[in-house]
Amino acid sequence: MEPIIAGNWKMNKDPAESRTLVQEVMKSVGDIKDRIVILIPPFTSLASVCELTRNTRFKLGAQNMHWERSGAYTGEISGLFLKSLGCEYVVLGHSERRHVMGESDEMINKKLKVALEIGLIPIFCMGETEKERESGSTEDVIRGQFDGGLKGIENEVHKIIFAYEPVWAIGTGKTATPEQAVEVHKFIRGMLKKPGTILYGGSVKPDNIDTLMREDEIQGVLVGGASLKPESFARVIKFQ
Ligand code: PEP
Repeated sequence: MEPIIAGNWKMNKDPAESRTLVQEVMKSVGDIKDRIVILIPPFTSLASVCELTRNTRFKLGAQNMHWERSGAYTGEISGLFLKSLGCEYVVLGHSERRHVMGESDEMINKKLKVALEIGLIPIFCMGETEKERESGSTEDVIRGQFDGGLKGIENEVHKIIFAYEPVWAIGTGKTATPEQAVEVHKFIRGMLKKPGTILYGGSVKPDNIDTLMREDEIQGVLVGGASLKPESFARVIKFQ
């Protein structure tokens, strides 16, 4: 399985800025052969990014979706619409959705089920807060998010990309050490009971990507801040 570099732009980059970013990154990385790059712009930039990534090795993902295919859900986006815009991936359970927007394991579970039904590959995020880590409950928290998110789809874990994203490392500049990341990745792998893809996310930058990617347990990264600038995103993509 080729390593995955996924760039989550969060609520940044309008369509024109997204286009510029993609063009500059593509120019800088050239022909990428042995890795998968997933671009995850805001919904409003999906169409313009899709145009640029068609017939390239850059893939398209969305940051969220609703669990219904259509209906009276003002302001929400159906996974089917994402597919029609060329998305192959969707991020679900991101800590900002859980902690800022109040998404529960039950909501994330419904979204995961629908994503699988309609053929989107979920990037399912899990992670503990600083307080939870300090109190020694990291594994309990991850187990709760894992069990809650995967209720009824336990046999479909091979269709899901997992992302360990410690909340204390997201956007804070504090990266988990490779040892800390590996420990939790091994714990998640134990729950999977079969081979799976597990990404690490949390302040991944040009100066820590190479060390993180040297770990066999880390099959790729989910990158926020460092994916917003062409130089840093390109360097992360070109990890050695
Ligand atoms: C993220 O939002 O998934 C993330 C990992 O952000 P950052 O790289 O900025 O910590």
